[in-house]
Amino acid sequence: MMGVLSIKIIITGAVQGVGFRPFVYKIAQQFDLLGEVYNDSVGVVIIVQCTQTQFDKLLLSLNNDAPELSRIIDISIVDNYQDDKVYKDFSISKSRKGKASAVVLPDACICNDCIDDITDKNNRRYGYAFTNCTNCGPRFSIIKEIPYDRKSTSMSVFTMCKQCEKEYQNPIDRRFHAQPNACAECGPKLQLTDALGKHVVTKNIVEKTASLLKQGKIVAIKGIGGFHLACLASIESAVVALRERKHRKHKPFALMARDVSMVKQYCLVSDQEEYLLTDRASPIVLLTKANDLLSKQIAPKQKSLGFMLPYSPLHYLLLQELGESLVLTSGNQSHNPQIIDNQSALNELGKIADYFLLHDRDIVNRVDDSVVRHVAGDLRVIRRARGYAPTSLPFPKGFEECAGLLAVGAELKNTFCLLTESQAIVSQHIGDLKTLESYQDFQDNINLYQQLYETEVKHLACDLHPD
Ligand SMILES: [Zn+2]
Ligand SMILES: [Zn+2]
Repeated sequence: MMGVLSIKIIITGAVQGVGFRPFVYKIAQQFDLLGEVYNDSVGVVIIVQCTQTQFDKLLLSLNNDAPELSRIIDISIVDNYQDDKVYKDFSISKSRKGKASAVVLPDACICNDCIDDITDKNNRRYGYAFTNCTNCGPRFSIIKEIPYDRKSTSMSVFTMCKQCEKEYQNPIDRRFHAQPNACAECGPKLQLTDALGKHVVTKNIVEKTASLLKQGKIVAIKGIGGFHLACLASIESAVVALRERKHRKHKPFALMARDVSMVKQYCLVSDQEEYLLTDRASPIVLLTKANDLLSKQIAPKQKSLGFMLPYSPLHYLLLQELGESLVLTSGNQSHNPQIIDNQSALNELGKIADYFLLHDRDIVNRVDDSVVRHVAGDLRVIRRARGYAPTSLPFPKGFEECAGLLAVGAELKNTFCLLTESQAIVSQHIGDLKTLESYQDFQDNINLYQQLYETEVKHLACDLHPD
């Protein structure tokens, strides 16, 4: 046929498990393209037979409208691609096997569509604290190995119900191949206990937790990347008790507000800072205090406060119920890593927390909250963890022989960096390596990264400090 091009497009980067194929499928429908799209070991491959005008539109959409969580590193185009296949339509075809694409995505905050689901009384996910889709939800915190598939995550123990399975298999559904897909019928469940682990019987766990917090109680809450200790920011005695029980005299506590307007009641928020607060990484943003309305015990002698917005559906539901800000600080004992499992939380935080808001989806990889600040027109990352890590920095050609080099980082505020054939992977913030527990965590993470990125450590880089 005159004027018909046959083209192969290879897209690399974070393009698997983020709804990229359904996105391409929808564009193909929109522009009447013929061909197919599939995942392979490198990324996403599109074979398309179309006119030059159609191709230009496709390329524009790929560059401008790609799914929220995707991150394209490269789009390479093979012109005059020889394909004997005759396409009568456009389809999502079976993934081609090969060495797995080693792009592990960071966890992402709940998206607006999922917020609509959990707040709509007629939706089957109304009030469900583990709602997610391909545009949001846990990723790095639940992955055990690659390829990123449900069976390689802590969701493997939950079998999808018929309705969830239908969404998971439907190429045009927002939950097509969303690995942590779940609902109240088939997915993880909340549990509320007292400090001794005794169940608190209640019809609505989120409502009950909110009422306990309003009574001034301290609640340990299992989040996405670890446990937090929470109390209401407006109750001075609760904040003081949290400081005393955690033996934390001065270090500032972080806060979680329901929305940006609530943050603005206490802090000055520029447009750029608002952008950071609402970013899908949902970090703690350090902001200049506007007044002293909140307890001085939250951040003694500081001119700024660290605020974040609810990033998991559980946080979202809880903050809606509370209608005011929460103090949220890492659930750990001094110098130890943030706790990630229910039993350790009950054992180690029982003297600090009055109640425990638990759930049965295991946190596989510990990722603390990230901390950022907007300085001199730019983003400064103070603690790079949940929402940002792991992110890879692609190398230009010529670095292949660096694969297996591990830069171990510092003793204080440790992060490490592992080099693969094509990228440098910076780990999440591990923390100070003062205790056996945190050193063990450091070693566990190095093992994890070697496994996730299929790269064995061959050389070490460290500074000459005796420690
Ligand atoms: Zn979502
Ligand atoms: Zn279900």
